[in-house]
Parts: sequence; structure tokens; C-alpha cells
Amino acid sequence: MCASAADALRRNWSTGVRHIKIRIPDNVRKIIAAFEGAGYEACAVGGCVRDALLGREPQDWDIATSARPEETKALFRRTVDTGIKHGTVTVLLGSDAYEVTTYRVDGAYEDGRHPKSVTFTPSLREDLARRDFTINAMAYSDSLGLVDLFGGMDDLRAGVIRCVGVPEERFGEDALRILRALRFSAQLGFTIDPATEAAVVRLAPTLEKISAERIREEMTKLLVSDDPGKVRKLYETGITRVILPEFDVLMETEQDGRYHLFNVGEHTIRVIEHVSADPVMRWTALLHDIGKPRSRQIDEVKGRIHFKGHGPAGAKLAEEILRRLKFDNATIETAVKLIRWHVMRFERGEYDIRWCLNEIGPERFPLLMELQRADAYGKKPETLSDSLARCDRVERMCDEILARGDCFRMSDLAVKGADLIEAGMAPGPEMGEILGRMLEDVLNEPSHNDKEYLMRIYT
Ligand code: ATP
Ligand code: MG
Repeated sequence: MCASAADALRRNWSTGVRHIKIRIPDNVRKIIAAFEGAGYEACAVGGCVRDALLGREPQDWDIATSARPEETKALFRRTVDTGIKHGTVTVLLGSDAYEVTTYRVDGAYEDGRHPKSVTFTPSLREDLARRDFTINAMAYSDSLGLVDLFGGMDDLRAGVIRCVGVPEERFGEDALRILRALRFSAQLGFTIDPATEAAVVRLAPTLEKISAERIREEMTKLLVSDDPGKVRKLYETGITRVILPEFDVLMETEQDGRYHLFNVGEHTIRVIEHVSADPVMRWTALLHDIGKPRSRQIDEVKGRIHFKGHGPAGAKLAEEILRRLKFDNATIETAVKLIRWHVMRFERGEYDIRWCLNEIGPERFPLLMELQRADAYGKKPETLSDSLARCDRVERMCDEILARGDCFRMSDLAVKGADLIEAGMAPGPEMGEILGRMLEDVLNEPSHNDKEYLMRIYT
């Protein structure tokens, strides 16, 4: 895990809150100055203030203002009506875009990203009060200084996630905040204040109301954070039970003591921690053994636990889950293929590798090896070095196959459908079968990828 962001803050901290100066980008300063010149109030707000105080690079700078959306549009030459109903106008400066939102009070949240209704307000205090956590409810401008009305700075220093106001009420307005609390805790290495955590546990079931897209976005941020092991906390607080009940089953599925120290869920957490911080890899790791509970069998004689066929079973279930969470097709395809094949040990050497290249594509092979290595780190330490050595060996063999240009796909087969038609065969399923047998032969023996040979043997 990274050094806690709160530690970094304590080190950087020298002056009192009122005098603190945040370095804001020139464009943000220009936008704020334009508002102030026209008699409005404006400031940087939310995540960017939090991140700047922590010494983290803010992803984007959001600006809040007392000006109404029409007034904002009148002030700048290039604007986009991003969410005009909710008070958000995007201001374009050079090649950059900045979201500018009118101070507002939110009505109840609907399924979407935005509250059903909003009321504009001239009060920055009211705007800050509608925000989720104290560390996200601070504003800054050079003229206002740091506006911290809810103890955000103290919580940043202490490394605490705490709701603004009464946690139950805030989670009641928008249940997504329950998941956001854990997401920020994973990203920043912060603890969750006990009253906020108690409300997380109590209201976790209400996450059921939240759209799949919003859940997916927050889960992904948690998974690609420096502490993806916070997934365990999602289980402990009852969140996965609502948004990913299949994971709870993993936490309750024991494995065979010969290879494993942990149940499937605890093993999974270790695998997540050992793949790179990439959304596809982290989701794949989370779901790689999702088929195990359905495939679990106990050998009557020796009393051993098996999960035969959990690769294909997991691929099927993972696809259902990823579709439910409204993932894009490219992510689903990669995750499902890696999960389907993660159990492959390549016992038949180059043949298995070519077969696998055919199934998953050469671009995914390195990802499969990454997953297999991470999988090895999640098992008994004494099995690790053998598994890693096997992965090294397989990877070398794969490099050689690719360097030699062995055929592993139908499109590289020396015989095409047209050749069979020319030889007098009628188009139809039988033709596909013959091509399949030819490919099978060539996967076994690449030197057989020769038109004359294949036609002689198979037609
Ligand atoms: P990130 O760095 O991941 O973008 P962020 O804090 O900027 O983190 P956003 O989702 O971009 O998070 O939201 C920007 C700000 O809007 C937050 O800092 C917070 O003040 C407020 N906010 C966002 N979502 C909510 C919510 N569901 N309820 C209350 N306030 C919210
Ligand atoms: Mg943001």
C-alpha cells in the first residue's frame, strides 16, 4: 500500500488554515477572476481542493459560483451546456475544459448521476453542505482562502472519511455515498469515522436502488486504487451482498489445504492485489474464481476438494455479472477469455500455447500470464516458485512461437474455403469441419501448414 496520504499532508503542513495557499492552474485563476470582475463569487471546490491539500495531482478542477448558468454563459466566449438543469456549464479555455456549477441545494437523488431537482442558492455554505464527505466539502480561491466549514482539514490531517451532517440522512438522500465512502478510504488510505461506518452497515441494503453504471464506476475506482484489498471491507459491511452477492459466496467457500491457505474470497483478494492497477485486470482478478462455488466437489475417497471446470463455469458467470454491471463489450470479452483460460497449465507444451493463442488472441497472452502469476501469489507460498517458473517457461515458448510465425488461427491456414470449393466440395458445414481438422493438425505440427499436404491428407 502507498504511504498514507494523510502522512504526506502532516509533513507538508506548516501554516494555519486561513493562510493556506493552494497553487491553482492559471486557467482556473482566470475563470475565477472573470467571475469576481463581474461581481460574482467563485472558487475551486470539492475533489480538487482535497487533492491539492494532500499533494495529489487533481484529476480535474471543478469551479463553483454564485452566478446563474446563463450568467456564466454570458461571461465566457466558449461554453457547453453540460448539465444546465443542474447548474453545470463547461467553460472551454484553450484546449482545456472546466466544469462550472452554480451554488445549489440538491433535491432527492434519482437513479441517474444527478439529483431529481436542484435549487440554486447564493450561499457557498449551502453548496458545501450538500456534499458527501467533509474532505470533499471545502472550497478555495485566492481571495476567499480555504473555506472549511465542516472540519474537512482536520479530517484530512487525521485521515478520516466522515459525512457532512448526519450520516443516515446523507446516505438516505443518495445511497451511492455508501460505496463512495469505501472508495475514498481505499484511494486515500483513510479510515471511516465510526458513526459514518455504522450508517454504511445499516444502509448498505439501500444500494439496491442505485444504477449499475454508478456502482460500476465507484467499484472500478476502488479496485484500481492502491488498496484494492478494501474489497474485504465491502464484504464485511454488507455492501457486496447487495451489489455483488457472488463475492460473498467466495468468502464462504473453503479450498483444499494442499494448495491453499485461504478460502476462495481471501485468495481472490490476494490475486487482485497482484495484478496491475488496470480496470480490466482488477475486475478479471476479482471474478477469476467466481465459478468455483458451482464447481466444488469433494473426492469421496481421499476427502480432497476439487473445482473441476471452474474456468468455463466462471467465464459464464463473470459474463452475466459484467453485463449486469453494464460493462462495454471489449472489457467483457477480455475478462471472460482470461477467466475461461486462467486454469490452463499448458501441459502439452507448444500445442496448448498455439491453441490458447487461437482462443484468446496473442495480444491477451501476456495478460493471461500476468493473471496466472498473480494467482500463484494467492496460494501457499511453497507452491509459488514452481508456478512462476512455469509461467516463465510458457512465456518463452510463446515468444518463440510468435517469432517463428507458427500458424495458430484459421485465417493463417494455408487452405481456404475457396480451395475446397475449387476441389469440388459443396459449401456447407462439412467444409467447416474439414478446415477445423486441418487447423487442429497444424496446431500440433506447424510444418503441416502446407496447402499441398493438407489437401492430400484431408480431401
Ligand atoms: P475524483 O477524484 O474521483 O473525481 P471527486 O471528489 O472529484 O473525486 P466526483 O465524483 O468528481 O468526486 O465529485 C466532485 C465533488 O462533488 C465531490 O468532491 C463532492 O464534493 C461532490 N459529490 C460528488 N458526488 C456526490 C454525491 N453522490 N453526493 C454528494 N456530493 C457529491
Ligand atoms: Mg472529480
